Amino acid sequence: MGKEFQEYLNCSQIYACEVCKAHLTSQSQLISKTFSGRFGRAFLFKTVINSKLGNPEEKILLSGLYIVRDLFCKSCDLLIGWKYDKAYEESQKYKEGKFILERNQIIKLEWDT
Ligand SMILES: [Zn+2]
Repeated sequence: MGKEFQEYLNCSQIYACEVCKAHLTSQSQLISKTFSGRFGRAFLFKTVINSKLGNPEEKILLSGLYIVRDLFCKSCDLLIGWKYDKAYEESQKYKEGKFILERNQIIKLEWDT
C-alpha cells in the first residue's frame, strides 16, 4: 500500500501529528484549550484534515453522554483524539461535529510571516 495523499495547510501556526508531522489543523480552527483528553490536556477544533474516524460509540465523559468516534492520523494511524457526533446535553450541543486533539499527540509548527 502506498502512502495516501496528504493535504498541506498554508498557515503560520499549524498543529501536526507528533509522529509523522502530517498537518492536522491550524490556529484559526482552535475553539478552546480547556479540555481534558485520555492523556492529559486536549484542545477543541472546528476542523481536522489528514485524519480518519473509528466507529461511533456512546461514551460518558465528564460533561455528560455523547456519541463520539476515535480520531486517527491518516498517515501513521496514531490515535490523536476524537470527534463529537452527538451531544445529549443541550448545553454541550456546540461540540457536535467538532474535534478533540490530545496535546501530547500533536506538535505545533510555527513560522514567522
Ligand atoms: Zn501521523
